[in-house]
Amino acid sequence: MRGLMQDQPLLISSLLGFAERFHRDVEIVSRRVEGDIHRYTFGAAANRARQVARALEANAIGFGERVATLAWNGYRHFELYYGVSGSGRVLHTINPRLGLEQIRWIIEHAQDQVLCFDLTFLPLVRQLHALCPSVRQWVALCGDEHLPTDDDIPGLISYESWIGCQDDDYVWPVFDENTASTLCYTSGTTGDPKGVLYSHRSTVLHAWGVSLPDALCLSARDVVLPAVPMFHVNAWGLIYAAAAVGFKLVLPGAALDGPSVHALIEAEGVTMAAGVPSVWQMLLGHLQQSGQHFSTLRRTVIGGSACPPAMYAQFADDLGVEVVHAWGMTETSPLGAVSTLTAAHMALPAEAQRRLQLKQGRPPFGVDLRIVDDAGNELPWDGKTFGNLQARGPWVVGAYYPGTERAGDGAPASALADGWFATGDVATIDAAGMMQITDRSKDVIKSGGEWISSIDIENIAMGHPAVAMAACVGVHHPKWDERPVIVIVRKPGMEMSRDDVLALYAGRVARWQVPDDVLFLDDIPIGATGKVLKNKLRELCKDCITLAS
Ligand code: ADP
Repeated sequence: MRGLMQDQPLLISSLLGFAERFHRDVEIVSRRVEGDIHRYTFGAAANRARQVARALEANAIGFGERVATLAWNGYRHFELYYGVSGSGRVLHTINPRLGLEQIRWIIEHAQDQVLCFDLTFLPLVRQLHALCPSVRQWVALCGDEHLPTDDDIPGLISYESWIGCQDDDYVWPVFDENTASTLCYTSGTTGDPKGVLYSHRSTVLHAWGVSLPDALCLSARDVVLPAVPMFHVNAWGLIYAAAAVGFKLVLPGAALDGPSVHALIEAEGVTMAAGVPSVWQMLLGHLQQSGQHFSTLRRTVIGGSACPPAMYAQFADDLGVEVVHAWGMTETSPLGAVSTLTAAHMALPAEAQRRLQLKQGRPPFGVDLRIVDDAGNELPWDGKTFGNLQARGPWVVGAYYPGTERAGDGAPASALADGWFATGDVATIDAAGMMQITDRSKDVIKSGGEWISSIDIENIAMGHPAVAMAACVGVHHPKWDERPVIVIVRKPGMEMSRDDVLALYAGRVARWQVPDDVLFLDDIPIGATGKVLKNKLRELCKDCITLAS
């Protein structure tokens, strides 16, 4: 017997439709690349999203065809999120921090038809346009007054005139909720990037999931600043959750330096901000130097790489900002786990609670996790045994974008083994389901048959006041296979010797886990998604072991 409830597909346009009816006057505030602040409401955004849909019609962009963006977090990007997907086209967000060749490769692979870009990326677009024959229309995200006057890019049009001549009376089409909505490529630190193709259904369910109290706990009383980019994994779903929940959205544009982000948080009364550790490092560094505080920020979500305990303490203990540690991946939309505590955890001493909050956390309903050994056998949830982390659920990837890999019958090759997606992370899970990432499997250091978590070694160094940044990598060793080397960036004007660094480990890890050497650098190489490029570091450290062995 079928249920007798209304059969309404979960469509991205329905999120915006809801916002238009119930949060019409809630603000969206953006720091524009032009330098000024732009503000309007969900109601106005919805009208302009419909104009986007009409502009795509005028360009004869078909249902399911890809429309790319190279853009910061801003209101025009917001309109494209809804106008492109809502009208049945696929929004392809491109990470501008990837190299030219990788960007060319993914535009070609996705067969993007339109490319909308912020003016910051004009030099990149000048190089790209001759290399990307699939792109029929180039759109600069600005008004005519800022449109570059040279004719390097044939047919270049400003976004404002592209949508400005369109009516806003478009009616969002209704279609199957499993239709593709959005495409995002992994950063491809090893091998070619892989396309993850989200659906309307997965996106709407994920927006619901991230909003839950034990996930990011989003409400219509919040003012949310996503410092995580809209060009990578949908800014963690916050753009969709904004429409569903009705919180004020504050979009920081290109200015992600500490002073700019702090000023925006203060000016707009931000209560919740989401960022990766490398961006928060700049914000905290600025606050430390200037002695400033937050007057409205109550909560921050930190994810993308492990939140160092020292960062957690600075936010929570020094600045009174609650930290929510989250784990996810492009392939999981991205939210996979959040370190919020249960009633049983709340009965534990504060120190034990902090240890749990530093784990990557529990999945919200919608994600299932398990750890397995190399043969695929499930491992116990004892908080100690570590294994390969696998995930499944309605917002977890099933197969990569067709063409990336194909099965014999021409269908997209499944990304799954035994119905589960292998994350490439190594983790433990405790009896209460709290998951902790030990490492990415390719970063874990294998020394004499034992494993050393690079994250644990880094966190100890990051706790020292003279350390701005620390990263640990395994370096080939003739006897032990690999040995850890710790790379340190000192804070400006701070002294710290090799012996000082190594002394930090005495009594805190087993002796065989203590790094063999220390390499001091002025900067640590950071990749396109704000993560330490460990392969580059391994290269830089490869001679350290000669000293150490
Ligand atoms: P890419 O590195 O290709 O950009 P993602 O942005 O999807 O990929 O990153 C996913 C990976 O980031 C995870 O598999 C995990 O290794 C790491 N990661 C994400 N969040 C955390 C976290 N809170 N702690 C530790 N690692 C994390």
